[in-house]
Amino acid sequence: MSGKRSGGALALAWTCAACGEANGSRPAGDGVECDRCGTAVAVEEPHRQFRRCAVCSSTRLYRQRDFNRFLGLAVVAAGAVLVPFTYGISLPVVFLIDVILYRRVAEMAVCYLCRAEYRGIEVPKRILPFRHHLAAGYEKRRERRLEQAGRRSERR
Ligand SMILES: [Zn+2]
Ligand SMILES: [Zn+2]
Repeated sequence: MSGKRSGGALALAWTCAACGEANGSRPAGDGVECDRCGTAVAVEEPHRQFRRCAVCSSTRLYRQRDFNRFLGLAVVAAGAVLVPFTYGISLPVVFLIDVILYRRVAEMAVCYLCRAEYRGIEVPKRILPFRHHLAAGYEKRRERRLEQAGRRSERR
């Protein structure tokens, strides 16, 4: 082991298995806590390398581009607004900006089972893009998990 990797801070967005709270993306450090119930999720070294999901321990994750659709739309809208002033040049320009944005945007890893989102560190090659047939298999397990979480929080 060559010590801790310093480059890139992992950020984690996840749904709490104990209370069902959807926790937004935030720097994970060594772990995160649920906003609502305080349940802690430890993010240890194996998790940082996506061997397992830190939240549910599932070993299946997929990669996708973390493209901010809102930002893309905002750029296009700005281009449309500027059309009268630029004789239409702004539209192809913003289209180009969009393409460049998309290309440069970082990738993130997502857990098939609990849909936890891992941002901010490089996604290993062995994590493959989304496969629909895999996701369908995990869908039922995920629903069961959420049901259990719901029952648990009702008892409180
Ligand atoms: Zn919680
Ligand atoms: Zn998971």
